[in-house]
Amino acid sequence: MTETPPFTGGFFCAFKEGQMTRDKRTLAVHAGTRRSQFSEMSEAIYMTQGFAYASAEAAEARFEQAGTDEFIYARYGNPTVRMFEERIAALEGAEDGFATASGMAAVHGALAAMTKAGDHVVAARALFGSCLYVLEDVLARFGVQVTLVDGLDMQAWAEAITPQTRLVFFESISNPTLEVIDIAQVSALAHAVGAYVVVDNVFSTPVYSKAIELGVDAVIYSATKHIDGQGRGLGGVILGTKDVIRGIIEPFMKHTGGAMSPFNAWMMVKSLETLELRVRAQVETANALAEALLHRKDLERVIYPGLKTHPQFALTQAQMGAGGTVMALDVGSKERAFRFMNALEIILISNNLGDSKSIITHPATTTHQRLPQAQKDLLGITSGLLRFSVGLESARDLEADLMAALDAAGVEA
Ligand SMILES: *Cc1c(COP(=O)(O)O)cnc(C)c1O
Repeated sequence: MTETPPFTGGFFCAFKEGQMTRDKRTLAVHAGTRRSQFSEMSEAIYMTQGFAYASAEAAEARFEQAGTDEFIYARYGNPTVRMFEERIAALEGAEDGFATASGMAAVHGALAAMTKAGDHVVAARALFGSCLYVLEDVLARFGVQVTLVDGLDMQAWAEAITPQTRLVFFESISNPTLEVIDIAQVSALAHAVGAYVVVDNVFSTPVYSKAIELGVDAVIYSATKHIDGQGRGLGGVILGTKDVIRGIIEPFMKHTGGAMSPFNAWMMVKSLETLELRVRAQVETANALAEALLHRKDLERVIYPGLKTHPQFALTQAQMGAGGTVMALDVGSKERAFRFMNALEIILISNNLGDSKSIITHPATTTHQRLPQAQKDLLGITSGLLRFSVGLESARDLEADLMAALDAAGVEA
């Protein structure tokens, strides 16, 4: 049997000397690329679950110690998935990454891989519903004790984090009320007792993330959101040091089956090429729309971390340098919220975010419907609150759509 020809390309393959110093835009287009013997321009989809070995000895050798570009089974790794992992790791400034089937496979994988029965976890209270389920229902069932705190209250973090604390988890910007948590301060408290810091960084996006330099041990993205950004598929990734990713995450993920499919990896790797351009354009529009909405007298709240009126504006500037692509507005009541949503012509009613299409969500009746009222009150999820994910449409058209729908929704009866 003939030997497989070696990869001839990969000239910007991640982790090569000097590669990490390239600008994000260059990394987004080239990092992690592996070219086959055909030297194709566009990254190939290696739609394969398995890999053939040239000999029995080669199979034995690969199972003993697989080299960088040697794969065994797609649940463990696949060339297209590896391209996505290396490209996003390079963008994030992380040493390595493991791609997962969805954002929740990444959250669950990281939390389950890093804890065991008897451990203590401290997490911010304002969490995506499924993250809350993993913490309160799943981990608790396996003997992990979970303490939830107000993520903005440093005193509460300091009191909750004890020498028994194994892991600290939070969303850097919370959903849907957009509280911005101080990554460096919480990380310092956690590291003082030797606990891991795991951050769900969806609302920050890799474009504005400084999570690694601020002290986070594992950064998680739902690639379903801005990374795909075009509403096509699910995906996720866990990023961190080689020790964390290959030492802790990979052994757990490869045996529990949360791997990303090669097709989705290809979609995501191509999407990374335009991620920065898309997200920056969305942020620019979000800023303009938040400013315009501030002038409306018929809104109770406009929450956008890029606004000077946001309580963590200074922290947001230091930690991210931009307010993100999502804002929240309170129109006063459920009835007015529904009239407003139904009057929108461009902005779609859905529950995704980070998409090129602008999306409006009423959390109290959809994404956060199942939360008890007391918890909704605690998290500021009022009946008039709407989450607005800003897309790539023209700012002028979106502003006109918002203003016309607010007018059509009238005022409180
Ligand atoms: C969407 C989302 C997730 C879950 O991601 P999926 O890809 O839907 O599994 C987790 N955390 C946050 C903050 C999210 O927005």
